Amino acid sequence: MKLVEVVKKIKETLPLELVADQDNVGLIIGDYDDECGTTIAAYELNNGVIEEAVGSGSNLVVTYHTPLYRTTKSFTSSRLRPDPLFTAARSRINVFAVHTALDIPMNGLNFDLAARLGLKNVEMLSPLPATLNKIVVFVPLDHLEKVRAAMWRNGAGKIGKYADCSFAVEGEGSFLPGEGSSPYIGSPGKPEQASESRLEVVAEKAILGQVIEAMLKAHPYEEVAYDIYPLQNDSPNYGFGAIGELAEAQEVTRFLDRVKKVLVIPSIRLSHLPDSKVRKVALCAGSGMPFFKYAVRDGADIFITGDVKHHDFREARSGRTILADATHRGTERFAAELLQGILKRTFEDRVVVNLSKQEHDTAVNY
Ligand SMILES: [Zn+2]
Repeated sequence: MKLVEVVKKIKETLPLELVADQDNVGLIIGDYDDECGTTIAAYELNNGVIEEAVGSGSNLVVTYHTPLYRTTKSFTSSRLRPDPLFTAARSRINVFAVHTALDIPMNGLNFDLAARLGLKNVEMLSPLPATLNKIVVFVPLDHLEKVRAAMWRNGAGKIGKYADCSFAVEGEGSFLPGEGSSPYIGSPGKPEQASESRLEVVAEKAILGQVIEAMLKAHPYEEVAYDIYPLQNDSPNYGFGAIGELAEAQEVTRFLDRVKKVLVIPSIRLSHLPDSKVRKVALCAGSGMPFFKYAVRDGADIFITGDVKHHDFREARSGRTILADATHRGTERFAAELLQGILKRTFEDRVVVNLSKQEHDTAVNY
């Protein structure tokens, strides 16, 4: 598969358009004409990952963390301090980063972590605002099913855990076909009235183009009347963090033991360790402190994230919600594995997706 197609496929699968400007995601290094047969899914780019790629004959690495921030003005390299991006470019390795595009979907990093920790009834902790559009299209009755199905097939009509959502009501459309037109109903120069359905379907902004294209293709009219309304609703499909419940309340220490085991970390730092039980659990992988306030608002018994600072712990001590630092890397431990699974489904055997074997702990313990 050509890299240009690989990029298109990833963008259709993960919501790169919804990622904040300061998060540098997408194709970081790449030659769109390259043929990609094998790729490596990795937590982040380092020289070991580049060696893996070269050694396995792969010319594409898809990373979770972005290896290039917008503030980077240059990248240079030497034998003593080899720069992974420089080496990748020299070795003709293409690099694509997904970062928060992997965090925010319902099948993303936070919902994956919630499932691994045994949470049920999981919802977005902080939904993104205004990611949806409403498409309203006027369809002759005999084409309602065809048009609606085409929009659904292209990803429209998804509201949280529900798919194929729509609303339709019958009415009367009127039009006067102009000279040179070839109307589906009526004839040029003759005023026409037709029974039509007003079909309403929501679609995420990220897939609007493909939904409109499919709708127009399935619609029999020469000139299709349709409206696109941006919605202010919180997104039911994308957001930061996750909140859910354990099947039953359990001792804090028992739950923390499970977290340590799942995330393979020796310890967890806590704001306080009350002698109580936990049931409602909120989390945000990586550096999730900006979302702690939503965990408190929603009455979570515990909030799990990484990169918690001294003063964050101090402030949290006076509250009910336990603030838990399970480390940045620990909470993102399964990022590459999740990415591999998503890419495998996306490429459907057309590109082999291997998982990087590199260990990625940034700091060294002594
Ligand atoms: Zn991270």
